[in-house]
Amino acid sequence: MNDLMVRAKDLRKSFYNGKNRIDAVKGADIFIKNGESLFITGPSGAGKSTLLNILAGFEKPDKGEVILGGENIYRLSDKKRAVIRNEKIGFIFQFYHLLPEFTAAENVMLPALMHPKCVRVAAKKKAEELLAKVGLSMRLNHRPGEMSGGEQQRVAIARSLINSPKVLFCDEPTGNLDSKNSRAIYELLFGISKENGLTLAVVTHEAGFAASADRCLGIKDGLLV
Ligand code: ADP
Repeated sequence: MNDLMVRAKDLRKSFYNGKNRIDAVKGADIFIKNGESLFITGPSGAGKSTLLNILAGFEKPDKGEVILGGENIYRLSDKKRAVIRNEKIGFIFQFYHLLPEFTAAENVMLPALMHPKCVRVAAKKKAEELLAKVGLSMRLNHRPGEMSGGEQQRVAIARSLINSPKVLFCDEPTGNLDSKNSRAIYELLFGISKENGLTLAVVTHEAGFAASADRCLGIKDGLLV
């Protein structure tokens, strides 16, 4: 169905710690509609990050398939899957993962510069526009070490949007922020999702903001509930 951005069937993933097998995801079926915001909440160790990484094309499941924007992503070569990730998805991490030696504007531009046909001037202009959108016009030339956690996460959000993704995956996006900054980050994410018809998938152990999403699922011991 083409109104689905993500469709995943019977996802399973185990890890081995010596001889011990850890079943992190135990058979997840999941769909996310175009433009929908979905929260997946559960305690630490429930399998949230593993599930999100599988959906976003970062972690090959042991079993099951993920269809993202019409592409069966784990049937593609690693190279083709990397291209799809760069063009169709954005990803937000708990600890921002900005490059410390680059300015805010340079960090935001980076994913655009990976594109073979990228025009640097256009990428810079777009980075500045996105930083304005997240309220950071005054921080274009600041490095991550000169910004607060909330500001760094805003830079990461701007970076995630530079290639105009269809879906944004967020792993504990406010896990390192206080409640005021957390609220501001979620308002920004939901606002951007609504404004641009951007599909949003958030995993978090904090259920507090889940009511603002279109839909919420729980996960416990590797099973969606
Ligand atoms: P959550 O995001 O809900 O905290 P995770 O998906 O990170 O949960 O982890 C689920 C389970 O899988 C945990 O028991 C965790 O220790 C284990 N796990 C996750 N990644 C790995 C890995 N790379 N190697 C071994 N075990 C892992």
